[in-house]
Amino acid sequence: MRTSDRLRNITGGGSDGWDVFYRARKMVADGKNVIELTIGEHDIRTHPVILDAMHKAATAGHTGYAMVPGTNDLRDTVAKRIQDRTGVQTTRDNIVITPGGQSALFSAHLAALETGDVALYCDPYYATYPGTLRGAGGVPIAILCKPDRNFEPEYADLKRAAKGAKSLLINTPNNPTGVVYSLETMQNIAKVAIEEDLWVISDEVYDTQIWEGEHISLRQLPKMEGRTLVVGSMSKSHAMTGSRVGWICGPEDTIADLINLATHTTYGVPGYIQDAATFALNAGEWLEQEVGNPFSRRRKIAQRIIGGQNIVRAIPNSGAMYQMLDIRATGLSGEEFANALLDQELIAVMPGESFGNAAAGHIRVAMTVPDDAFEDAMERLCSFAQSTLS
Ligand code: PMP
Repeated sequence: MRTSDRLRNITGGGSDGWDVFYRARKMVADGKNVIELTIGEHDIRTHPVILDAMHKAATAGHTGYAMVPGTNDLRDTVAKRIQDRTGVQTTRDNIVITPGGQSALFSAHLAALETGDVALYCDPYYATYPGTLRGAGGVPIAILCKPDRNFEPEYADLKRAAKGAKSLLINTPNNPTGVVYSLETMQNIAKVAIEEDLWVISDEVYDTQIWEGEHISLRQLPKMEGRTLVVGSMSKSHAMTGSRVGWICGPEDTIADLINLATHTTYGVPGYIQDAATFALNAGEWLEQEVGNPFSRRRKIAQRIIGGQNIVRAIPNSGAMYQMLDIRATGLSGEEFANALLDQELIAVMPGESFGNAAAGHIRVAMTVPDDAFEDAMERLCSFAQSTLS
């Protein structure tokens, strides 16, 4: 029997640019001492106080089916948090709890698209985006965001692409670039969405990790509430990647339809996980800060080391756990640089080409190893870049 085209087409075929990552993983499995600066997984685990809350909820019996839309407590907590941060009135009826942000991205696109609709996304992009859009029946079209514009989308490019499209997927703070979109960029996105009648799916899973400036949620801009589906997650903010808990915030009628979808797909998220998430969100900012502070520290380490040379250029990253580096001065592609760095220095980074076409000639460094190892890796990375010229 043959699997449906819908599933077979998700990956789109061809090399996905993740060869360096898999090669590094194999080297680690073979006992090599590789410093992995590849994926967005924290080097700390979920805080014990969150695990205690999870354990208490499970032993108290919250192990049966939970309410499909999410528990009232968690939906109320997420709604209040969003209202406090954005000033937009938000209730539990605007929230559906999902098994992580990834599931939220997929469901949000199912809500926005008819089969065959054009679904826009910004390049460079988080690895799953095109496949998610295809899986939801969309035809993914990338908007190229230029390195000399900080990888933020420009009005003219958005406007051109938006003709005839149905949705636009944005991500700020951004993976892979670490860029936090400016107010001007957000206003341009809103303007085009209103002019061209687009849904916007706004992936804001890194919204607690802001090192400079301010995070603006698209839903808080005028006239955007009715056409924006915001994707949130506990994965990055609270180092709960394995717990699989996130949400979609959007208009009440669409959320009601998404709850219907959840009934027929996931049937909800485990109650003890939701109780732990409710606890974590109500525990105050210290938990988020404990998760975010190491990235903020390492960002400064990277800035200091990169500031001391002139081969590698840093894309100014105001948020998230990544540093994108422009290595075009070496004459190598991102893939060539990453492969050679892995072979010669046992340092694994992601080639920019893994995230689309716009970040060719760049590499992405995940700031996800302890400070000492990170500093050592950044110094060796810069010396390696220098050595390619001689
Ligand atoms: N969006 C972005 C931009 C991400 O980087 C990730 C995870 N790396 C996700 C969504 C999905 O996260 P999760 O499903 O763990 O919430």
